[in-house]
Amino acid sequence: MALNLVMLGPPGAGKGTQAVRVEQERGIPQISTGDILREAVQAGTDLGRQAQAVMERGELVSDALIVEIVRERLARGDTRDGFILDGFPRTVAQAEALDRILAGRDPLVVVELSVLDQALVERLSRRRVCGDCGATYGAGSGAVPAACTRCGAALVARKDDREEVVQERLRVYREQTEPLVAFYRDRPSFRRVDGNQAADAVRLAIAGAIDAAQAAIRVQSSPAV
Ligand SMILES: [Zn+2]
Repeated sequence: MALNLVMLGPPGAGKGTQAVRVEQERGIPQISTGDILREAVQAGTDLGRQAQAVMERGELVSDALIVEIVRERLARGDTRDGFILDGFPRTVAQAEALDRILAGRDPLVVVELSVLDQALVERLSRRRVCGDCGATYGAGSGAVPAACTRCGAALVARKDDREEVVQERLRVYREQTEPLVAFYRDRPSFRRVDGNQAADAVRLAIAGAIDAAQAAIRVQSSPAV
């Protein structure tokens, strides 16, 4: 069975890190909408040129265009054994579109990484980036050094990691994601994973959640005896 995985989780939950681990363990590509947008723009595809025009006008790329770019990406051969979607879908409309894109393929596995708000605010507000080379420190449980260990430059807080900005990002996330979780929650392949643990424990919990979700899909799709 292909592993067609959607990962949901708030900013600061470590979703990106965990997605990379699933990618390495399962040998399936991680697909983030930011990356495929950039790719499409660079490749100068028809959709890429449309997206570029929108972004150059300073506007947000529409749902419809994002959906088409995701459709194009998921049609590529490297997704035959599965994929990990990160940052898509963001809305129920996108989730419905994704179901249509995947008609005839193996059912989605949806993993929601859940982390307490207070922990997210703490994690994000202690994160620092190097002002020169862009290296990131303090994400997850790593300690924050006095200066960049790569180039020695001073470390600064990212503008969007300040506490009031973080609170606002979490509020927006919750507002967008609650309907999405409600959309997926009743599927046997939906799993919530406790992200309030060390990164390795979260990795194991995600692996277990994926296996359990796929087992539930097999039970559901096997013919009744
Ligand atoms: Zn640096």
